[in-house]
Amino acid sequence: MPVVIALLNSFSGLAAAATGFVLNNSVLIIAGSLVGASGLILTQIMCRAMNRSLANVMTGMAPPAASGGAGDDEVYAGKVKAAASEEVAMLFDAARRVVIVPGYGMAVSQAQHAVRDLTQLLESRGIEVDFAIHPVAGRMPGHMNVLLAEADIAYDKLKEMDDINPAFRQTDVALVIGANDVVNPVARTDPDSPIAGMPILDVDKARTVVVIKRSLSPGFAGIPNPLFAADNTLMMFGDGKKAVLELIGALKEA
Ligand code: NAP
Repeated sequence: MPVVIALLNSFSGLAAAATGFVLNNSVLIIAGSLVGASGLILTQIMCRAMNRSLANVMTGMAPPAASGGAGDDEVYAGKVKAAASEEVAMLFDAARRVVIVPGYGMAVSQAQHAVRDLTQLLESRGIEVDFAIHPVAGRMPGHMNVLLAEADIAYDKLKEMDDINPAFRQTDVALVIGANDVVNPVARTDPDSPIAGMPILDVDKARTVVVIKRSLSPGFAGIPNPLFAADNTLMMFGDGKKAVLELIGALKEA
């Protein structure tokens, strides 16, 4: 839907530019061209970040089901480690660098203010905190940026994917809050996956990954995520906001 909106928006600019030619009005031509061009650029960026062609989006084709990919049991059975807030708080005690990775679940649970409080608490203990922002995290362009700005999180803490990816190797804890597809390593490893080739955030390279979500349910692409079963991953199951508040409580008690 956001891709279609961006495209229609760009058409409105092109229509304005065409009207400018008819009326011989250069302001209308220039303004219309700017709107048209920027809409087309945004459309192209979103399609690339979702690893789908514009035709594929326009014909309403859902991402192909996970045919050929591993099923839930194969990926998760016996490998997922759940952790309580107290255990995660102990990890933060020993951490010097933390990267928070927000996704659609942070938006659903409206956790952004709790995330700001957690950030401030960690920073007050001398821990360096950054945010990793994937271009299609959430359900609309700039979704995470808007939510984090609403919570007064400093803009220079929000790092774009290409800037933050090399830093995950030096990260003690990657805290994933309600993100799934944008951190799914299958995009790198399985050419048959619906998200094959989609650039992802390399959270699996961090020393420890903590994932906050309610269950092992898939995200938008509908496929399992081997990150949740990785050796260095701990799952903290629960609603995003509630889990972050619990984590703050556990950190204060520790
Ligand atoms: P995602 O892959 O859709 O996963 C979101 C996860 O949030 C789910 O697995 C869900 O797991 C969890 N969640 C939902 N409610 C929650 C809650 N209350 N508390 C905690 N977790 C909750 O999200 P993403 O990683 O942000 O990726 C975005 C996806 O949307 C991509 O596939 C992208 O292509 C697509 N998309 C993006 C845009 C855009 O413009 N940004 C537009 C259209 C489509 P549980 O149910 O287990 O909690």
